[in-house]
Amino acid sequence: MTKPLAVITGASSGIGEATAKAFSNAGYPTLLLARRLELMESFNLKNSICKKIDVRDRDSLVSAIREAEEKYGPTDMLFNNAGVARLADISTQDPKEWDEMIDVNTKGVMNGMYAVMSNMKARQSGTIVNMSSIAGRKIYEDHTVYCGTKYFVHAISESIRGYLSPHNVRVIVMSPGNIEAEVLNGITDPNTLEAYKKNIERIGGRISPDYVAKMILFAYEMPQNVIMQEVVVTPTKQDF
Ligand code: NDP
Repeated sequence: MTKPLAVITGASSGIGEATAKAFSNAGYPTLLLARRLELMESFNLKNSICKKIDVRDRDSLVSAIREAEEKYGPTDMLFNNAGVARLADISTQDPKEWDEMIDVNTKGVMNGMYAVMSNMKARQSGTIVNMSSIAGRKIYEDHTVYCGTKYFVHAISESIRGYLSPHNVRVIVMSPGNIEAEVLNGITDPNTLEAYKKNIERIGGRISPDYVAKMILFAYEMPQNVIMQEVVVTPTKQDF
């Protein structure tokens, strides 16, 4: 095995699935993490381990990564991608949806970084890609808590980038706009869902997660002394 281990959370669908496949096709051994194990196994990737993991469970996440590292060596790329988007009218939204977004989108990302950053610092090499969103840079009225979680990702990524950069470790933030994925399944508020769908239609549709995956692979394969600190990618017609 010449190429190092790439770990992808939320690898069972959407952007995570596309990224797992892109890294695998480029010859990297991969660890795929999400709750829907059967989906990840159905991709049948070469030199790959799939584990049923909830990113909120820090201990299980760490154990899965250690197990893959025993087989494939240290994690050199972690894509902290798992996330949920329960967009809604904040005044009527069930607070349980806030809890879920906060736990998965913020603590889940911290848990992933916790699992790899000390080793990357010690090895003086490694790349962490944290999934934010354009909603981590701009506020949308019906994205309230989701925006909060993605602003969190930007804040901690910038902080940890500063901390890890002297150790030659890169922290990259991905900030996509409307990408084809299962994200709409997470919207339980019918009015918000309708408005979201109308907006997608208005801008001529979403774009394939394969473009996001390609950008992550491109950023990762730059020499270690070159970092794309943040990638903002949207459909061209997405005007806000
Ligand atoms: P999907 O819904 O297709 O993918 C979400 C992934 O996250 C799934 O693999 C899901 O797997 C996983 N996931 C969700 N909750 C957990 C959990 N508790 N533990 C482990 N895995 C979990 O949508 P996307 O591909 O769009 O979402 C990926 C990321 O991209 C998210 O962080 C999202 O916020 C972000 N994003 C998406 C945009 C878009 O337009 N699609 C735009 C901007 C950002 P499983 O259910 O099997 O656990």
